Amino acid sequence: MHATIHIPQRPATIVDRSDVVVVGGGPAGISAAISAARNGASVTLIERYPYLGGLAAGGMVLVLDDMVNGLEITVQGICTEMIERMRSKNLCVVPDENDRQIDQRDLPESWRRWARWGLFDFHTPTAPHPICYAAAFDPDGFKQVAYDIFSECRIKLRTHSWFSSAIVEDGVIKGVVCQTKSGLEAIMAGVVIDATGDLDVAANAGASHIEDTFILTTVSRWGGVDTEAAERFEFEEPEAFKALDHEAKRLIGGCWSYWWLKTPLPGVIWLNCPHMPKLSGLKVEDLAAAEVEGRARMGRLMEFARAKLPGFEDAYVVDFAPQTGVRQTRMLQGEYVVTKDDVMSRRHFADTICRGRDYYTPYRAMLPKEVDQLLVAGRHYSATPQAQKSSREIPPCMAMGEAAGIAATVALNAGTTVRKADIKSIQKQMRAQGADPGDTPSANASYLEAAE
Ligand SMILES: Cc1cc2nc3c(=O)[nH]c(=O)nc-3n(C[C@H](O)[C@H](O)[C@H](O)COP(=O)(O)OP(=O)(O)OC[C@H]3O[C@@H](n4cnc5c(N)ncnc54)[C@H](O)[C@@H]3O)c2cc1C
Repeated sequence: MHATIHIPQRPATIVDRSDVVVVGGGPAGISAAISAARNGASVTLIERYPYLGGLAAGGMVLVLDDMVNGLEITVQGICTEMIERMRSKNLCVVPDENDRQIDQRDLPESWRRWARWGLFDFHTPTAPHPICYAAAFDPDGFKQVAYDIFSECRIKLRTHSWFSSAIVEDGVIKGVVCQTKSGLEAIMAGVVIDATGDLDVAANAGASHIEDTFILTTVSRWGGVDTEAAERFEFEEPEAFKALDHEAKRLIGGCWSYWWLKTPLPGVIWLNCPHMPKLSGLKVEDLAAAEVEGRARMGRLMEFARAKLPGFEDAYVVDFAPQTGVRQTRMLQGEYVVTKDDVMSRRHFADTICRGRDYYTPYRAMLPKEVDQLLVAGRHYSATPQAQKSSREIPPCMAMGEAAGIAATVALNAGTTVRKADIKSIQKQMRAQGADPGDTPSANASYLEAAE
C-alpha cells in the first residue's frame, strides 16, 4: 500500500465546446467522431498521443479481421471505407475475391497465398482456416486516411491532451478536463463518448465497471526479410520448418501460431508477439517492465532468425510500436453486460445496433447505468472479460464507434438523452451509412427470449 497526498484543486481553462466530444482517437473513437460529424454535430476529438489510430496505428496491430459471417461481410460502413481508401494508396491488401469463394477458400494454394498475410477466418477450427475478407494494412496509411476524413468532416482535433477528469453535475456528464502542456483544459459537451479503450472517462465519472487483464505485447516490425524465401521454406520443407519454428516460439516465450505476418511494404513484416501475461495495462510499473522484457525476447529471436531462418539472413528491426499492446483493462458494467455465451451463441437483441463477425451488440452495452449523456464504445464496452476477449477486434470496435456517433446525434436532434435515443433511428442511419446494424439477423443467429 502506498501513502497518499491530497492535491489542491486547480481551475481549468474552457478551451472548446462541442455537441459531441470523443475521448480517444483509436479505431472506435475515429469512427464515432466521423459518424457524429457526418450527422451534423460539431465534434471535438481528444487524444493523448500526437496521432490518430490508437492500437491500429501506434500499437501497430496491422490486420483488420473478425468482420465476416462466412461469406457475409458483417462490419462495413466507416471500416470498409477506410480499407478502400488505404487500398487506393496501395497501403492495404485484401484477399482476391476468387480465393474467398466457397470452392476456393479452403484450398491449400489459397492458404499458401494468404496465410502469411493473416487474412483467414481463425474462428473456423478446420485446417487450413478458410481465406476470408480481412485487410492487412500499413499503420501510417491508417493514420493518414483518418486525418483525410477528419479534415473533410471538419472535426476539431485536440491531440497531446490527456483526459484527466470528467465534469459531472447531477449525474449528467457536461464535459471533460485534460492535462496539457498549457495546463488543465476543459472541453464542454452535449454528449461525451468514451473511446479510451481503458474506460478512463466513464470510470472517473462514477460508472460501474470491472477490471481484468489479458496478455500484453510489444509489437515490432522487421525489414530486410525475403518473405518469398521464407514462405518457400515453410511450404516446401515442412519438417525442417516445423523444427526451426518450434525453436523460434521457445525463444519468444508465448505467441500465436503465426508469429510474423506480411505487411503492404515489401520486405517488412510485423510481429504480433511476445505474449506477456499477468501484467496490467493500467500500472506504470507493468507497462515499463513489458517494454524491457518484450525487447529482450525479440532481440534473442532476431539473433536466432538471422542465423537460422531462410529469408531472415538480412533482417533488421524497423521499429517497436510506440504504444504498448494492451488488450484488456477496465470494462463497463452497463445497462446490459454481454456474456461469452451471447457472443458464442450469436444471441440477437431487439436493440442490436452493430455486429462483430457473427455476433450482435446491443445498444445497452454502450450505456453506463449511473451517468447520463455518456456513451462507451470500443474494447472497454459492457462485457464480461471472457466475452471481451472474443469480441474486441478492430472492426467490431469501429462498428460500435460508428453506432455511438449516430446515437449521440439522434438523441441531440430529438432533444432527449442518449439513454432514450430511438433504437430504430440508430439502426436506420447505420444502414443509410452503409454499415450493418444487425437489425436483420442472419440465419445462424439465436434469440434472447425474455428481456428484449
Ligand atoms: C498486440 C495486439 C494484437 C492485436 N491483434 C489484432 C488483430 O490482429 N486484429 C484486430 O482487429 N484486432 C487486434 N487487436 C485488438 C485491437 O487492436 C483493439 O481491441 C482495438 O484497437 C480497440 O480499439 P479501441 O478504439 O477500442 O481502443 P484503442 O485502439 O486502445 O484506442 C484508444 C485510444 O484512446 C486513447 N486514450 C486512452 N486513454 C486516454 C486518455 N486518458 N486521454 C486521451 N486519450 C486516451 C489512446 O491513446 C488510443 O488512441 C490486437 C490488440 C493487441 C494489443
